[in-house]
Amino acid sequence: MISIKNVQKIYASKQGQVKAVDDVNIEITEGEIFGVIGYSGAGKSTLIRMLNGLEIPSDGTITVANRVVSKIKGRSLRQARQEISMIFQHFNLLWSRTVKENIAFPLEIAGIDKAERTNRVNELIKLVGLEGRENAYPSELSGGQKQRVGIARALANNPKVLLCDEATSALDPQTTDSILDLLVDINKRLGLTIVLITHEMHVIQKICHRVAVMEAGRIVELGSVLEVFKNP
Ligand code: ADP
Ligand code: ADP
Repeated sequence: MISIKNVQKIYASKQGQVKAVDDVNIEITEGEIFGVIGYSGAGKSTLIRMLNGLEIPSDGTITVANRVVSKIKGRSLRQARQEISMIFQHFNLLWSRTVKENIAFPLEIAGIDKAERTNRVNELIKLVGLEGRENAYPSELSGGQKQRVGIARALANNPKVLLCDEATSALDPQTTDSILDLLVDINKRLGLTIVLITHEMHVIQKICHRVAVMEAGRIVELGSVLEVFKNP
């Protein structure tokens, strides 16, 4: 489903060049929940942002759902983002729109007509467990509820891949667990491939099938969660 081959990302900064991602190779299978863990500055965010064209690699090739995303622009980039959607640490909701308007937003952009949008939004509200909160504004929701809106919005156009950028890092432990349970449920029910980045081992251990450990732009370990975190 996802192939990352010899990928590098170099940023130019005042101090010189920063190699944020350094010769990374990863293959991710359809239906897998794949985690990338590492300390702050390891390059996780740069890596995941290259999977949907938010960053373009300096070198190497990335293919997601048979689409080369490592040098993609314009219309094909917009199409790719419907297939490869993303949720964020701070949710990135539209604060002047209600829950159902936030979820309907990507459907509007995709040109789906009103009747179909309404049906789809109702399905998504049920899927993420937000019944009764349809007309609330984000400021009236708890952190966990905001992330449920983020997830529903990300799933609106039936993506093939869901990218999670520190999606539970702003949440308390109990809310984190309920959001992780929801992600597992979605993975099982829809067969959706999930790639997540986190600095929390617990997140990886709770839901990931495989994990890559990232340090200074490089993958230093990759394998099943049991293999990588086994006690010596
Ligand atoms: P992580 O997500 O693991 O915290 P990042 O991908 O955000 O790591 O950052 C990796 C490295 O790249 C860091 O040294 C960071 O300072 C640098 N970096 C990230 N984004 C930029 C940018 N837009 N310009 C310059 N340097 C950047
Ligand atoms: P949490 O309380 O779960 O951490 P926040 O309410 O702080 O979530 O929202 C996360 C992000 O959204 C922050 O960057 C914050 O500045 C921004 N934000 C929160 N409320 C509003 C608002 N009413 N209008 C615009 N941005 C907002």
